[in-house]
Amino acid sequence: MQNSPEAVIIGAGFGGIGAAIALNRIGINDLVILEREDDLGGTWHVNHYPGLAVDIPSTTYSYSFEPNPEWSRLFAPGAELKRYAEHVADTYDIRRYMRFGVSVESAEWDEELQRWRVSTADGQTLTPRYLIAATGFLSQPHTPDIPGITEFAGTIVHTTAWDDDLDFTGRKVAIIGTGATAVQLIPELAKSVAELTVFQRTPIWVVPKIDFAIPAPVRRLFGRIPLAQRAVRGVTDVIYEIIMIAGVLHFRQLNPLNRGVAMLANLFRSTSVRDRRTRDALAPDYDFGCKRPTYSNEYYRTFNKPNVSLQAGGIERITADGIDTADGAHVDIDTLVLATGFDLWDANFPAIEIIGREGRSLGKWWRDNRFQAYQGISVPMFPNLFNLAGPYSYSGLSYFTTIECEMIHMQRVLGEAARRGATTVEVSERANDAFLGRMTEKLQDTVFNAGDCATSRSYYFNHAGEATLLRPTSTANAFHDAKTFPLTDYQYTG
Ligand code: NAP
Repeated sequence: MQNSPEAVIIGAGFGGIGAAIALNRIGINDLVILEREDDLGGTWHVNHYPGLAVDIPSTTYSYSFEPNPEWSRLFAPGAELKRYAEHVADTYDIRRYMRFGVSVESAEWDEELQRWRVSTADGQTLTPRYLIAATGFLSQPHTPDIPGITEFAGTIVHTTAWDDDLDFTGRKVAIIGTGATAVQLIPELAKSVAELTVFQRTPIWVVPKIDFAIPAPVRRLFGRIPLAQRAVRGVTDVIYEIIMIAGVLHFRQLNPLNRGVAMLANLFRSTSVRDRRTRDALAPDYDFGCKRPTYSNEYYRTFNKPNVSLQAGGIERITADGIDTADGAHVDIDTLVLATGFDLWDANFPAIEIIGREGRSLGKWWRDNRFQAYQGISVPMFPNLFNLAGPYSYSGLSYFTTIECEMIHMQRVLGEAARRGATTVEVSERANDAFLGRMTEKLQDTVFNAGDCATSRSYYFNHAGEATLLRPTSTANAFHDAKTFPLTDYQYTG
C-alpha cells in the first residue's frame, strides 16, 4: 500500500465517495480510501435488516449531480442505496482508491513532516498530507448494558449485524428499541414470528409515509430526461426543507406548524391502534422534532396483531430464557433483537483518536470546550483535517446535502491552497469562534431549545445537553456559506 498519498479518506460510504469525487475535481488523484468493512456503501452496506428503506424521498436522498433514474419507489429499499453507492463509485472511478478490511485506529499530526500519521489496526502507518474523516454519524453500534444480557441463552442479533439466514418463523422474539430502525423492522418481524414483544423506553413520533412505486414509464422518462427528475427533486427538497425550517429550526416563531404536525400524528396513532392502553403508551410526551421522527404506514397497525404486544414499563434484567420487566412480569423469548441504535457522542466524536498540533486530542478538547467545528468540518489546531461528521455539520434535509456542502468547502480551501502553493491549511480561531457563536444563537429558536425535549432522550443532544449535531440553518444557507465563506478564514502555510 502506498504510504504517503496526498490524501487519506477514512470511510467508503457516501461521505467518503463524495470526498474522493471532490478531490478528483481539483486534481488530487493521489489518494487512498480506508474502509473497515469488506465493501463500499457505509451504512447501506452494513444495514440489511428486513424492511430497510430510506425515510427521505430518494429523489432528495441522492447526490444532486448524479440523479438515479432506477429508484423503484419514492422511498427506495435499502438494497437500492447500496447499488447506487456502487454505481457512483464506478461512474466516477473511485473504487480504485479503496482498501477494504482496514480499520483506522488513530491519526496524529506530525509537525516535522507537516503530514498526518494514520495508524491502522493491522500495524500500517500512512502519512498523507490531507486527512478526511468520512466515518458517518451512525457507524458505532450501541449494545445496551442491560443487567444479564450476557446470560441470555437464545439467539441475539443487533440490527447492524443482521444474519440474513436467521429464520424467525414460529419464534418468540423480543425487540428492544423503537427508533427508526425498529419502526421499519417490527412490521416485518410480526409477519412470521409466533410472538413479538416490543420493549419501548421512549415512544417515537410516527407520521404516515406517502410512498408509492415509481412506474416504469416514469423511470424511463427520468433516464432520458434527467431534468424531469431534477424537477421532482425540487419538489421533494422544498417539502422537506419547509418541514425542517418550520417544524424544527424556527420552532420559536412558527410553533403552530409544529403543533399541527403533532396533532396529525396523534390522530394517525388514535385511528391506527385499537387497544387504548397500547395507544396511550405509544404517545410521545415531548415535542415533535426533538428526536428524529419516523415514517411508517405499518408500525402502529402492527400492534393490533394478536402475536404482537408492547412492553413500556421498563426492563429489570435479561435472563437465560427471557426478560424480567420492571413491573414484575417475565416475558419468555428465544430470540432477542437489539434495535438499540448507535453510540453517537461516546464513540463517534471523533470515531477514531485524532491528535492535532501540540498534542491536542480532538475528543478531549471537544468535551472540555464544547462541541464545535467551523462550518461543521474544520477545527483550529487540526491542520489539513476535514472531519465530515463534525458538530453542526448535518443538514436536516438529507445527508447528501451535508456531503455536497462539504465537497464545495473542501474544493474551495484546497483549491486556494494549490493556488497559493501552500501545503498546510488551518481554520483560524477567530472564524471558528464566530461560527460557534452564530450556531449557538440560532439554536435558541429551534425546538431543541425553545421546545420541550426533556424526556425525548434524543441523540441530537450531547452529554452536556446541547443539540450540536444538526446545523440549525436552512440548507440554502449551508450551501450559501459553503460557496461564499471567506477563504481568509483559513491560514495557508508551507
Ligand atoms: P435510535 O434512534 O438511536 O433508537 C435506538 C432505540 O433503542 C431507542 O428506542 C432507544 O430508546 C432504545 N434503547 C437504547 N438503549 C436502550 C436500553 N438500554 N434500554 C431500552 N431501550 C434502549 O437508533 P435507530 O433506530 O437505529 O436509528 C438511528 C438513526 O438511524 C435514525 O434516527 C435515522 O436517522 C437513521 N435511520 C435511518 C433509516 C432510514 O433512513 N431508512 C432507517 C433506520 C435508521 P430511547 O429512545 O429511550 O433511548
